[in-house]
Amino acid sequence: MAVENKRCTQRRERLWAALNAMDERCDAMLVTSPHNVRYLTGFTGSNGLAVVTEEDTWFFTDPRYTFQAAREVTGRVKAVKGGLLEHAAAIVAKKKWRRLGIEQGQLTVERMETLRCNSSKRQEFVCRGGTIEMLRMTKSDEELGAIRQSVDTNSKALDAALRQFKPGVTEKELAAEIEYQMRKLGAEKPSFDSIVASGENSALPHARPSDQAIGKGTLLIDMGAFQNAYASDMTRTFFVGSADKHAKRIYAAVLEAQLAAIAAVRPGVAAGKIDQVARKVLKKHGLDKAFMHSTGHGLGLEIHEPPRLGKKDKTRLEIGMAITIEPGAYVENIGGVRIEDVVVVTPKGCEILTPTPKELRVL
Ligand code: ZN
Ligand code: ZN
Repeated sequence: MAVENKRCTQRRERLWAALNAMDERCDAMLVTSPHNVRYLTGFTGSNGLAVVTEEDTWFFTDPRYTFQAAREVTGRVKAVKGGLLEHAAAIVAKKKWRRLGIEQGQLTVERMETLRCNSSKRQEFVCRGGTIEMLRMTKSDEELGAIRQSVDTNSKALDAALRQFKPGVTEKELAAEIEYQMRKLGAEKPSFDSIVASGENSALPHARPSDQAIGKGTLLIDMGAFQNAYASDMTRTFFVGSADKHAKRIYAAVLEAQLAAIAAVRPGVAAGKIDQVARKVLKKHGLDKAFMHSTGHGLGLEIHEPPRLGKKDKTRLEIGMAITIEPGAYVENIGGVRIEDVVVVTPKGCEILTPTPKELRVL
């Protein structure tokens, strides 16, 4: 029996409670997002899909994963030759499950055609994309443990990379050092392409590391790891050589916005409200127009998960949600500052998981 059994069964039950609470009934749900497949079955491989009913899970993979699936998966494992979708559709047709929930955002036009071609004429498809993602927003203690470890590794990797840092190395070299240290400290891989942006490049919120040598001025590093499948995410902005008055002013404003947003996190508050709090502080400093992304996002099996801490997100924060708080201010041709931590919503507020200090640091 797979070790994940109880956990996956509970998740399936939560999914069905959510599906049954919706207006249109489903007989089964086809799960095609690899992250959702992992969440519901425990499968860590790259090719698998699941058909989940209220009582059972059918899991489909290819023969390469026969042994792995037998070890990991909670449910009836079918290691099949040929297209997994065809086999899944065949089970649905055979069992006469008329109304099949699908993750519409995960199915390309081509895959949807395959599904239709292999289904009976009476088959109905019900869009249920996002349902499992909603369940994934609140993390179990075990998941929070994994996120905590990933966050810890990420911070240690930054410390180790900075110990090697000397002005004159290129952005790409520092990014490579960061990712090397991450893996050395236990991460599977980075959770996204590391951002190492110096000088004017730091004014681009999603800059790519370049061949530019890191000289005097701003150095923005946004990095994250996957460890035991769970993501971490952190941004720190440093100053090489010294920080001028202008840089100090922007840094202080962004830090004030970040601390205010963190202080506003508690159960029941709308995600959009946290964004408004950060924005209000930056406005006070005349920097609201320099902040052109949302204040944060959930993270877990994916680096970006709901909720999105953007102006309009009405999702109420709940105990156990892991989110980032990352306001920033970017001035074209000058530079940018962003400060990002991972926090977990607790009964009275939140706990900051990221251990890396935030006071202005000159390298
Ligand atoms: Zn980040
Ligand atoms: Zn982030």
